[in-house]
Amino acid sequence: MTAYLVGAGPGDRGLLTVRAAELIAEADVILHDRLIPPEALAGARPDAEIVYVGKEGGGPQMAQEDIDRLLVERASAGAVVVRLKGGDPFVFGRGGEEALVCRAAGIPFEVVPGITAGVAAPAYAGIPVTHRDLASGVAFVTGHEDPAKPDSALDWPALAAFPGTLVFYMGVRALPRIAERLVAGGRAPAEPVAVVERGTLPGQRTLLATLADVAERAAAEGIRAPAVTVVGPVSALREQLAWLEARPLHGRTVAVTRARAQASALAARLRTLGATVVEAPAIRTQPLPAALPDLGAYDLLCVTSPNGAHELFARLAAADADARALAGLTVAAIGPGTARALGEHGIRPDVVPARAVAEGLVESLAGIDMRRALIVRGREGRDVLPDALLERGAEVDILVLYETVAEPLDEATARAAAGADYLTFTSASTVRFFLAAAGSLAGPRIASIGPATSAALREAGVEPDLEADPHTPDGLVAALVADAAR
Ligand code: SAH
Repeated sequence: MTAYLVGAGPGDRGLLTVRAAELIAEADVILHDRLIPPEALAGARPDAEIVYVGKEGGGPQMAQEDIDRLLVERASAGAVVVRLKGGDPFVFGRGGEEALVCRAAGIPFEVVPGITAGVAAPAYAGIPVTHRDLASGVAFVTGHEDPAKPDSALDWPALAAFPGTLVFYMGVRALPRIAERLVAGGRAPAEPVAVVERGTLPGQRTLLATLADVAERAAAEGIRAPAVTVVGPVSALREQLAWLEARPLHGRTVAVTRARAQASALAARLRTLGATVVEAPAIRTQPLPAALPDLGAYDLLCVTSPNGAHELFARLAAADADARALAGLTVAAIGPGTARALGEHGIRPDVVPARAVAEGLVESLAGIDMRRALIVRGREGRDVLPDALLERGAEVDILVLYETVAEPLDEATARAAAGADYLTFTSASTVRFFLAAAGSLAGPRIASIGPATSAALREAGVEPDLEADPHTPDGLVAALVADAAR
């Protein structure tokens, strides 16, 4: 019987401590606020009781007494209860109150600090809250109070005189009064102020202003909660240190339609470049039954997709064989991704064309002697490669190991994809299946990985806005970056 008051830094980038992640994975019951990373809950047990008890900083929420009661009730019943709060539980999080409630009820508790928004949001905006020359202290202040009320708990002259950075939480509406009071207390009207909205979250926005004009400019730009206001000369450092907003795909949303199993590497790369990624897989591959021929009877083996490589080795393993079955064969991969997949099974292909398309592979095979070729691929493969090899007088067999089928697209994901800045397609089948599921490709700019995918788009009456070259995921990412810089 223990209650854990756990902080989860804001943002969807997993600003979680190791201890917080451990406890979330262990919890029987999680009582959480709104401003926590979605990844944090993804780590919970599937059978955990997860209760959303409301958002911080105003808005509708479960009454504090009800939260307290739930906490005590579940912990007393012997459950491992995690009270999960955005940022740090003891910084404007009512964590102190809840700890007192536990103590009064005789429930042992542990506090797991998190990264508070007053540090995390400025950090993501390129603002160090302290700096040797500019600020030797930092104060976290609630702006929730109405500074106009006579019995304000805040000592405004003292705050104005504070020798360091002031970080206001919950202060968007009170911004005009906060600025006014600080100037009245002696701060220079020209002092830099930054307001960081949705810090660390997709859509983070930062306004750099001065005490004199921050209220007017925040109103003009429609700055809303959640936001922190950073008052002090350190704010201006973001002109040099704004690393997040400087990323090439910052502020862009990119929908990825490739199969879930392959999407994650592309999605991770896009996120590193600052994009918000919508994973909207349109396809999934499904193994097909097939008898493995005697590989020794061939002199050339062509593999045309990473999935083909993995399936081939799955079949070899099932037959109690391994990479030695390929000894003596010339092995050709259609592109670097397929070459990598073969590499995972101990095969370094002899041929990898510079252009990752069937035509490129045909060209690269021009100087290679062959009599019998085996092509490993999915059911939907094109005929370019077998036709070209047949024309060269080779005997060609095709080994179909999988097929591509539709992955159902739920409505929310379809809507998110339609609202993205870019819709990316990495194969002809992603085009066909996505279109069938979504009904239309209207809205986003359309990014194609290469000619075969572009042809499928044109067949559907859609002209791609950009086509990758080289025709690889890296090429696609580069094309998106170039397009975003237009
Ligand atoms: N315990 C939390 C604070 C809760 S009070 C923590 O330590 O961070 C809620 C206030 O936190 C909001 O009004 C806002 O001022 C601030 N806040 C929370 N998430 C934020 C975010 N992503 N960006 C900017 N401010 C945020």
